[in-house]
Amino acid sequence: MTTSAAANSPLGSLYVVATPIGNLDDISARALTILRGVALIAAEDTRHSARLMQHFGIGTPLAACHEHNERDQGGRFLARLLAGDDVALISDAGTPLISDPGYHLVRQARAAGIAVVPVPGACALIAALSAAGLPSDRFIFEGFLPAKAAGRRGRLEQVKEEPRTLIFYEAPHRILECLQDMQAVFGDERPALLARELTKTFETLKGMPLAELAAWVAADSNQQRGECVVLVAGWQAPEGEEAVSAEAMRVLNLLLAEMPLKRAAALAAEITGVRKNLLYQAALEQQKDV
Ligand code: SAM
Repeated sequence: MTTSAAANSPLGSLYVVATPIGNLDDISARALTILRGVALIAAEDTRHSARLMQHFGIGTPLAACHEHNERDQGGRFLARLLAGDDVALISDAGTPLISDPGYHLVRQARAAGIAVVPVPGACALIAALSAAGLPSDRFIFEGFLPAKAAGRRGRLEQVKEEPRTLIFYEAPHRILECLQDMQAVFGDERPALLARELTKTFETLKGMPLAELAAWVAADSNQQRGECVVLVAGWQAPEGEEAVSAEAMRVLNLLLAEMPLKRAAALAAEITGVRKNLLYQAALEQQKDV
């Protein structure tokens, strides 16, 4: 099996293959071809993946590559790759390495000069983002939050004023406390969305302000089951703060060097079109910070 990257290499290629996150029809035709064609499949859980292989009639041997053995067993897969065998890496669901094992193997393979070939497909965070209706031009993926409340709140505090859309994975038994902590840290009104059981029978996407979302989940134990992704809108400066652009502040500061605050704010307002009171307040804030 060759790709343009691996065309003339005597080495095997490592294919990083995405598998479905629920609906088996989401596997790609290319993924099936590659899983059939490689010499070995490195799987997070061989028993779990055996069922997937059986469903698609794939007889390729499976070998375990999970977070506990990945560093040690990496050598075994590397040896096969160096000997010219193609290997596919899969996880239990979705895209390997995305909150799943595979990082060490991919790193080792690249360091050894092996072609590492992505075979894209399902990924829960991307599926959720694509349907959330929250800004998707810039986002950050925070993976799983710490399991204990103090650690979780600490991590949320770190991203409280992050302007990009925030995406989290969460286990069902912690989803309620997670949403309640988000409400406490980000505020009642911050828009959020819970994407649960994506591509499965009970798929649910519910978007509303955090306080309402936490109350909705608390009131319905069905919403505390299954797999979930939480998306939270990025932080927005309170109205007014954003209106004073860097350029308006530059004009204001030039004038402040020459005249009293009140006059400088009035003149800067005329020049920049920003409201006089906003500029006056911004100058006072700035003085406080010095
Ligand atoms: N590698 C996977 C991916 O590409 O999304 C993620 C693996 S991570 C161990 C599992 C977490 O992904 C779950 O706890 C949940 O947060 C999220 N997830 C996976 N499948 C999902 C689904 N069908 N619906 C919602 N969230 C899902």
